[in-house]
Amino acid sequence: MDKVKILIVEDEKPIRDLMDIQLRGAGFSCAAAGDGLKAADMIEAQRFDLILLDVMLPGADGFELMEYIRPTGVPVIFITARHEVRDRVRGLRLGADDYIVKPFDTVELLARVETVLRRYRKAESRTEIEGVTIDFDAHAAYKNGKPLDLTAKEFGLLVLFARNRNIALYRETLYERVWEGEYDGDTRTVDLHVQRLRKKLGWEKCLVTVFKVGYRLEASK
Ligand code: CA
Repeated sequence: MDKVKILIVEDEKPIRDLMDIQLRGAGFSCAAAGDGLKAADMIEAQRFDLILLDVMLPGADGFELMEYIRPTGVPVIFITARHEVRDRVRGLRLGADDYIVKPFDTVELLARVETVLRRYRKAESRTEIEGVTIDFDAHAAYKNGKPLDLTAKEFGLLVLFARNRNIALYRETLYERVWEGEYDGDTRTVDLHVQRLRKKLGWEKCLVTVFKVGYRLEASK
């Protein structure tokens, strides 16, 4: 399968560069534009699988670009500032698939990208990491062809690690994403589940503990 190609349209260079690094790290192919006119040229010349689109841009703004993108059928995630609630509504009405609010972290960015790509069936439904095959749609995992007996929480953790390879994930992030609640600082629940998952997968070496942070899955792409 060819790499999924993402266009990042964002005029703030630090944010643009950071998204570029994070998305490449997750295995995507990226192109970037810092103004609306350059973005329009790129959209005309190349085919993208997804466009991340900032609202306030020099040249042509995100809404103007949206008029341009919509006929192509390429999915769009709007990038908006915290207070631009009206922009989000307008963006969604113009046909954006989702929006993400600045500042956002890698985990949130990748989760939204995966969700939109999945909707368009561009995301892989199966992946193999360190001897473990994960079937995202079936909520199942296999080792040496045999199904692994994972609880829903363990599978949730596995998906997070799989989507954030080689990135240290905070216990707090793991807790909030998998347990969907406010983290109360008690690390035991997360630690216990990660330990069990590690043992079931045989990931003693690659699912490493990061001092004072949490865990990181060390895996080759
Ligand atoms: Ca901007």
